[in-house]
Amino acid sequence: MDRLVPLVTASMDLVLGSSCVGCQRPGPVLCLPCASELEAVPFPTRPDPCPDGLPSSFAVAEYAGVAKAAILAHKEQARYSLAKPLGRALALSVFAVLAACADRPALTGVLLVPPPGNPATARERGHEPMTRVGRVCAGSLRASGIAADPAELLVRRRSVADQAGLSSQQRFANLHGAYGSRRGAGRRLAQRPVVVVDDVMTTGSTAVEAARALRAVGADVLGVALVAATRRRSAPRG
Ligand SMILES: [Zn+2]
Repeated sequence: MDRLVPLVTASMDLVLGSSCVGCQRPGPVLCLPCASELEAVPFPTRPDPCPDGLPSSFAVAEYAGVAKAAILAHKEQARYSLAKPLGRALALSVFAVLAACADRPALTGVLLVPPPGNPATARERGHEPMTRVGRVCAGSLRASGIAADPAELLVRRRSVADQAGLSSQQRFANLHGAYGSRRGAGRRLAQRPVVVVDDVMTTGSTAVEAARALRAVGADVLGVALVAATRRRSAPRG
C-alpha cells in the first residue's frame, strides 16, 4: 500500500500528461517561471505571536501559491522530483542563517536537523518528505563550498495530538517536551553547529521544540531554515 502512492502518481502523469503544480500548465512538474518563485532572496521571518525560544528563522517564500502547492504535492502526492527545487530553496535559507552568524568564528560542518516526522504519517504517505529535501539541500550547500550534512538526530518521545485546529499556545503545550535526541546524537551535536530545517513554519512551535531538544544535549543551534513561512513578516536581524 505504502509503495502505491508514488506508483499511482507516476502512472497518472503518464496517462494524463504531467503539468506544473504551480500553474497547472502542461509540462514539467514545476515550470521555470513557477520554479523561480522558490529561488528568491531569503527573508527573516517570525510568526505572530512568536513563541519564546524561537531561533532566528529564514524562509524563501510565503506559504501560499507555488510554494504551498509544491510543498503539498511533494509531501502528500509523493511528487519526488519536487525535492530538488524545494531542497535548493531550503539551501538558500540555510545560507541566510549562516550569513546572519557571519561574526561567529569559523562555522564548519553544519548539521541540518529536521524536526522528527510522525512514523505513522510517513508509513501512510510512503515517504518522509524532509529526508529527501534535506539531502538535496545538503548537496546544494556542498556544491557551493559549504560543508553541511543532513542529520536526522531527533525522535518523538511521545505521541502528540494533531496540531491542526489548535491555537499557537495549545500547539506549544502539545509539543513541549515531545522531542528527544537519538542515542549518541549528543556527541555529534556537541562538535558541529546545527541549523533546524523544515519545509514550512506556521506557528513556530515545531521549530521551538526541535531547538529545545537540540539545546538540551548541548547543540549550538544557529537558526531555523525554511522553504516557506505562513506569514511574510520581516524582523530586524540579531
Ligand atoms: Zn508553473
